[in-house]
Amino acid sequence: MSPRAGQKSGRVFLVGAGPGAYDLITVRGADALGRADVLIYDHLVSPELLRLAPPKAKLIYAGKRSGSKKNIEQAELNAMLIEQARSGRVVVRLKGGDPFIFARGGEEAEALARARVAFEVVPGITSAIAGPAFAGVPLTHREHGSFVAFVTGHEDESKGARSTVPWNELVAAVRRGGTMVILMATARMSATLDRIRAAGLAAETPAVAVQWATTAAQKAVSATLATLADLSAREGIGAPAVIVVGECAGLREHLKWVERMPLFGRTIAVTRSRATASGFATALRRLGAEVVEFPTIETAPPRSYAALDRAIERLNSFDWIIFTSATGVESFIERIKSRGRDIREIGRASIAAIGPATAARLADYALRVTAVPAEYRAEQIVPAIGIKRIRGKRFLIPRAEVAREALPEILRAKGAGEVVVAPAYRTVKPKGARIERMRELIASGTIDLVTFTSSSTVTNFCGLMRAPAKGLKAAAIGPITAASAEERGFEVVVRPARYTIEAMTEGIREYYGSGKRKLGGT
Ligand code: SAH
Repeated sequence: MSPRAGQKSGRVFLVGAGPGAYDLITVRGADALGRADVLIYDHLVSPELLRLAPPKAKLIYAGKRSGSKKNIEQAELNAMLIEQARSGRVVVRLKGGDPFIFARGGEEAEALARARVAFEVVPGITSAIAGPAFAGVPLTHREHGSFVAFVTGHEDESKGARSTVPWNELVAAVRRGGTMVILMATARMSATLDRIRAAGLAAETPAVAVQWATTAAQKAVSATLATLADLSAREGIGAPAVIVVGECAGLREHLKWVERMPLFGRTIAVTRSRATASGFATALRRLGAEVVEFPTIETAPPRSYAALDRAIERLNSFDWIIFTSATGVESFIERIKSRGRDIREIGRASIAAIGPATAARLADYALRVTAVPAEYRAEQIVPAIGIKRIRGKRFLIPRAEVAREALPEILRAKGAGEVVVAPAYRTVKPKGARIERMRELIASGTIDLVTFTSSSTVTNFCGLMRAPAKGLKAAAIGPITAASAEERGFEVVVRPARYTIEAMTEGIREYYGSGKRKLGGT
């Protein structure tokens, strides 16, 4: 007998989220997130990763930040993992870095094994590796280091307790050519470094500290064993940070690279809809930015498909089909499919796209576009199509339920024989925890720039934030969007000459490239 739909055997995935950057999780980890019924995550996990879970997944914050009220006790957490998996759910336990490196993943796995609950481990890129890598420190090197030790800096020997870290032996080994990476290093940094010196490592041994590695908040300092604690204090380096001690740490001077990325240290909010944002977000990440995706608009089916369905029944009667958004293209094609029809029924109709992104989406479906206006404005459709090919012709415009009336009105005014406006989708506002988070990121000054690709993203963003945008910097795709943003109090610092995502990305790079570089450490 096959299991009923919705019933599956419960299990727990202990997943490493990577060191902080959204795109440093493994492909397998992302796959596990996509299967989650329940997602239990720690505070060092990138919040951007949470949206990889299905919308219906239950999200539980497990804390682990010292002093936080919301922390869940380890025993309680183990019990929760067991109970959820036993009731048939896929449980993802998402931990910063790697789940088996200073993360109690071992204890959780033991509890699951004892309870005979099935589990899988998905390793993650630990901060012990990513931190040094993003600071420009190779952990091994043929000339400078032939082994690595990951060490906790959390143990407190001063209270009479015996350390479980064999400092003397480790230091003896490092002196002969090796590297020590210390995690949980900041609270007791000078005591730890003193301890290492007392065990016999030379005061001038290179040492590096890196905080919030792989995120926009990354800060790193290069020093020596003797100077690192003071320098870190002066630079304000606190948790979470890792320290690297050994000859390899000296290579940072030649190899530091992240700080040179054009958008290093910048946190940029992307407000497009989820479906269309990812290309833009990726382009910004490639330039070194940390991106917070914040869809102010999501798409839903229109309240009624009646007009679109009627049009689909008589597709071959139109002379022109005009698309005004990539989402319009997708919704139109999907509806044709779900009605069991065939795209060839559009027959001899010519296709127009309002802008290059819409044209690109049509090209994805091998639909060639006859006309694209030079400018992203409804008015420009007339010269693009040509007045002679408007008079007496029949037009279909599949588009959003609520949209500017300009386009059909212009066509009618120019003598079009028939203009059918068919709602193919509807835009809706998102809800939930992401809104709260964005409000916090703005209030704390973390967001450097908000990007807008239409006036409606501006309106929706401000509606969701409720707070005035005074002084917040914005990039706007075109003049109408820029005017809306300015009206709301944004300082529009990027206005590309061409109204495309590519031009806007380039505009952002140029804006931050012109000597306004943030400090990224020494
Ligand atoms: N399992 C995690 C480590 C958890 S212990 C991993 O594999 O990375 C928490 C410690 O990890 C912090 O005190 C800090 O030393 C380190 N850490 C985590 N994220 C970090 C980051 N982005 N940059 C620097 N150190 C980080």
